[in-house]
Amino acid sequence: MLAFDTIQRAPKALLHDHLDGGLRAATIIDLAAEYGYDGLPTTDIDELAAWIRRGADRKSLELYLETFAHTFGVMQWPDAITRVAAECAEDLAADGVVYAEVRMAPELCTGRGLTLDEAVEAMLEGFRIGSDRATAAGHPIVMKLLVTAMRQAARSVEVAECAVRWRDAGVVGFDIAGPEEGYRPTRHLDAFDHVRRENFHITIHAGESFGLPSIWEALQFCGAERLGHGVRIVDDITVNDDGSFALGRLAAFVRDRRVPLEMCPTSNVHTGAARSIAEHPFDLLRRLRYRVTVNTDNRLMSGVTLSSEFAALDEAFGLGLGEMEWLTINAMKSAFAPFDDRLRLINEVVKPGYAHLRAEEARVVVVQ
Ligand SMILES: [Zn+2]
Repeated sequence: MLAFDTIQRAPKALLHDHLDGGLRAATIIDLAAEYGYDGLPTTDIDELAAWIRRGADRKSLELYLETFAHTFGVMQWPDAITRVAAECAEDLAADGVVYAEVRMAPELCTGRGLTLDEAVEAMLEGFRIGSDRATAAGHPIVMKLLVTAMRQAARSVEVAECAVRWRDAGVVGFDIAGPEEGYRPTRHLDAFDHVRRENFHITIHAGESFGLPSIWEALQFCGAERLGHGVRIVDDITVNDDGSFALGRLAAFVRDRRVPLEMCPTSNVHTGAARSIAEHPFDLLRRLRYRVTVNTDNRLMSGVTLSSEFAALDEAFGLGLGEMEWLTINAMKSAFAPFDDRLRLINEVVKPGYAHLRAEEARVVVVQ
């Protein structure tokens, strides 16, 4: 098994992480006091963190989503949003993440009068401040924003237009999130059409709590380049007793076209999309060489970091450094940042980082 310290020092890339799912509990309490938000169940840091985690682990996506009221509740003011975004960059960088696409629905920040653009501007400002601080602390990180629309709401066209407006300032794509059942991606076709006409990028939460039709619509009607979770693609894969397998048309399409799957193992256990890490479809999908990536989803709600997700997967499936590097390069290949930037990170940061750790491991073996 890999040492946790090795996992943490290994360069990692993160494609699926929600800004309003990764606040420090202490910051929620600070911001609530500063801005007079009085909805919190407790003002004790540990109790609040535990309360949120308990609320998230109820085996239902709808119940899981209820816990966000208090995180975006304190993200209604530009300075508050900027602080949350800056701390996000610092926390990810300290965990060894070198490239992150963090997402947020700006419409959730408009409850007290902010516009979508003001909310996005505050997020990007926070990423800039946080990544500067992280670089100064010796952990450089490239931070990008994905702008999300809520699938149960009706603002997706406005949100998509907002995402495109900020594309040269750090926004790299558009997503929809929220309850999946009853809110299929094709409800938002106009938004996706706009993004595609602008030659911009789309990832869609699909195949998390709802099955194949949601994945099919996301890919074939809405133009998703990546799938948020996508775990239910296993419903289209038959594994026979002798270990052979047969792919349905959709499962074959996803594999043949190398559609990236933004997998978030612990979150899937909490929402009931998987029974345990050991039984998570991650294992089958990586063995079938799908374009699998490893992600956190909501660090606060699930009580995880990207390193702890890799540690859990390493414990269950014995990833080792080789597969960790493969998963990281999968993520970099699937990122929405420009090709040159991705290539630079792969060749100058990721590959040398893993080579260094492998050399270190070899030295340890020789000494033993
Ligand atoms: Zn998500």
